[in-house]
Amino acid sequence: MKAVYVYSVILAFINFPFVMAVESYAARLQVKKVFAVDVAPGQRSREIRNSLLTTPVHATLFLAALQSGFLRIASDTPPLVFASFLFALLWTEIWHYASHVAFHLRLLHFIHREHHESHLTGPWTSVSFSVVEKLIFSAGILAGLALLSRLQPLSALGIFLYYTAYFFANVLGHSNIEFRRPGYYGTFLGRIFNSPTYHSLHHARYFKNYGLLTPWLDNLFGTGWPDTAEIQSRVAGGKPLTRLGERLNRMH
Ligand SMILES: [Zn+2]
Ligand SMILES: [Zn+2]
Repeated sequence: MKAVYVYSVILAFINFPFVMAVESYAARLQVKKVFAVDVAPGQRSREIRNSLLTTPVHATLFLAALQSGFLRIASDTPPLVFASFLFALLWTEIWHYASHVAFHLRLLHFIHREHHESHLTGPWTSVSFSVVEKLIFSAGILAGLALLSRLQPLSALGIFLYYTAYFFANVLGHSNIEFRRPGYYGTFLGRIFNSPTYHSLHHARYFKNYGLLTPWLDNLFGTGWPDTAEIQSRVAGGKPLTRLGERLNRMH
């Protein structure tokens, strides 16, 4: 049981080195920005303030779910580690999409408002949420995992590895840097995983592109921006968007 304490402590703090590493990388001259737009005054310090409260939420609930027996754990065999990672990824994509779309309803918008204070994303935006939003999102992830663990106890290591990968990918997704090559959304990998352009457009335009790490639920429900691929190719080619409201596809 000792390993779960180590996992929880790491998860409570690991976002900070991730954010700082991506922020220092983003300061280089040769990076391809999605938006060549100035950050609003006070945005970064507001995001840092929010992060102090919300960053440890996933780790705290993860530990509570394990300690209470709500989330049942078995030995970390390689197949179980892999299956637990994969289930955590798939379930979190579904839960994130459903809860995110719901947070955009007028009735629930107050929960998600703080995250959307940042129209231009930066690495710190990835850890800037209201406490209520973070609690709901995190509890939903664990509820899905806990339900499955009634049938098949899961690997704590697999879940820990998923959280770590999700945290890092989420910082990249808010980085305002496009690190994939032009034409990424026409590739095999681009049909499975988003690039940073994807979520940048969600913040800049407020609607659509609700997916977390993958575009497939937006594709399924028709909630993706049709000019995402075109914009990705343009910004990856070194021509950033110059206004938050800029659109490329005049048909939409
Ligand atoms: Zn949103
Ligand atoms: Zn965001």
